[in-house]
Amino acid sequence: MHFLPAQNFDCSQCTKCCRGWRISVDPTTQARLQGHRLGQSTLEQRDQRFYARKTPQGACVFLSSDHLCSIHSQLGADHKPRGCRQFPFRLCRTPDGIFVGVSYYCSAAQSNHGRPLPAHAAELEELAAELPLIGDRPLPVHGRHHLKWSDYRTLDDFLMRELQQGPVEMVLGQALWALCQSTGGGRGLAHYLELSEAALLPPEEPFILMEEHFFALLVAHCEAPTAQREPFRTALQSHRPVSFERFAGWRGSLAQLRVPPSPLGDCQLRRYLKALVFRKFLVARRTLLSNLAMLYLVPTLFSFWAALSQISRNAPRPEEVDYFRALDECENKIITHPNDLETVYHDVAEGFLDQLDFG
Ligand code: SF4
Repeated sequence: MHFLPAQNFDCSQCTKCCRGWRISVDPTTQARLQGHRLGQSTLEQRDQRFYARKTPQGACVFLSSDHLCSIHSQLGADHKPRGCRQFPFRLCRTPDGIFVGVSYYCSAAQSNHGRPLPAHAAELEELAAELPLIGDRPLPVHGRHHLKWSDYRTLDDFLMRELQQGPVEMVLGQALWALCQSTGGGRGLAHYLELSEAALLPPEEPFILMEEHFFALLVAHCEAPTAQREPFRTALQSHRPVSFERFAGWRGSLAQLRVPPSPLGDCQLRRYLKALVFRKFLVARRTLLSNLAMLYLVPTLFSFWAALSQISRNAPRPEEVDYFRALDECENKIITHPNDLETVYHDVAEGFLDQLDFG
């Protein structure tokens, strides 16, 4: 097993992971619960899958008032749904071994609370053994293009090395450029990674356009003339206009947001991006190219979400940027989201409108 270096975790019983989302109950757990009183009226079935019911406050029905899981306390930890036993660990079984990272939606993982990850090896081994092997067959990149696992590791190594210190947008742009080139040119990915820095100076226009397109869609959605959306638009417009440098030439109101430079933010962002690559986010669920495009958007959205606290009138710390909120949003809206870019922008925009209270 390979564990994300310098990462700690122990549950702090904040119960954040037991609220707010649908808790899937795997068939084994469902069968175990069926014969127990805990299973009575606590599960619901949708699309041939079982889920834990939620309380009116949005918490899992199994969460007790003492902040403990009643399945865990009454039947034992290994009777909990598989997803609950695994959270916040992110496991990926590959030809090079099992990679263990964490979800930064977990507050203990965010604050690096607890024992080093290898202390959890015994409990993770059983869960990891059931995972499908990723990389034994060529990985889908885009269309009919595929990549061998060994070539993917070249990309992975490049990102882990360069994200340590290089300008993050540039490094991600290089990776995206090289991957696109390798699907059309006759040379391997390593060749294009070598050329990528020179090729992207000055920055390659299509990538800038991609970002602008994403933000244009976002603003178009937010600025739709409905009563619900009006406060959001007004709040953005009344915020003191300081240019958001990377989008200075763009006319949308989101360009007025200011993200103050902060060593903490840069450090959090690098740590987050490297953790995503380490846990093999790029080969999970979507094609490699889609995931890399999503990763390319993370720095911009991270800055944006971090800055939202500055424009929300009811924010607890309106003068500070909130990096933990940014981590939450990135994990929720992009990284764990199974859908395409169009759906992501829709959900991101709806999330802004739902979560912020502009008073
Ligand atoms: S089943 Fe238990 S661990 Fe899983 S969400 Fe519900 S209360 Fe939390």
